[in-house]
Amino acid sequence: MTAHKKFPMEHDKKIALVAHDNKKRDMVEWAKFNRDLLAHHHIFATGTTGKILEKELGFKITKLKSGPLGGDQQIGAKIVEGKIDFLIFFWDPLEPQPHDPDVKALLRLAVVWNIPIANNRASADFMISSPLMDGEYDRLVPDYENYLARKIDLGEKTS
Ligand code: PGA
Repeated sequence: MTAHKKFPMEHDKKIALVAHDNKKRDMVEWAKFNRDLLAHHHIFATGTTGKILEKELGFKITKLKSGPLGGDQQIGAKIVEGKIDFLIFFWDPLEPQPHDPDVKALLRLAVVWNIPIANNRASADFMISSPLMDGEYDRLVPDYENYLARKIDLGEKTS
């Protein structure tokens, strides 16, 4: 059985919002509809998404670099550091993205750290209206100690 470590998520969560260009309208509509629910959380976003949302919602958003310029990777790094614990990421399934490897990397890290992720509006609706949003929650992350302690075969010493 895999052991887990608990990562407490506080009442006010650290939420990242990211939307590809064809999904920005969806994101704006969703965020405006849920403005009051979002307002007391700490909101992060990739550059362009954040700029649009800040204007539409009227409260402060921590804006990172634009996604294709490294913003997705910044969000991934913050997940690893425990500085983001919730991700709403509307990615575009119909258009190739120049930063496709970064998109994949972000989704991967969200799974590694057991971060709740919503990749479309319906999932985001269910997530934001969950009773778990309104309290503290212990996120269970697999204990990676065994992985870190694994033996590495460096081969035979030749000298
Ligand atoms: P943007 O980045 O918010 O800066 O447009 C989003 C993305 O493509 O990851």
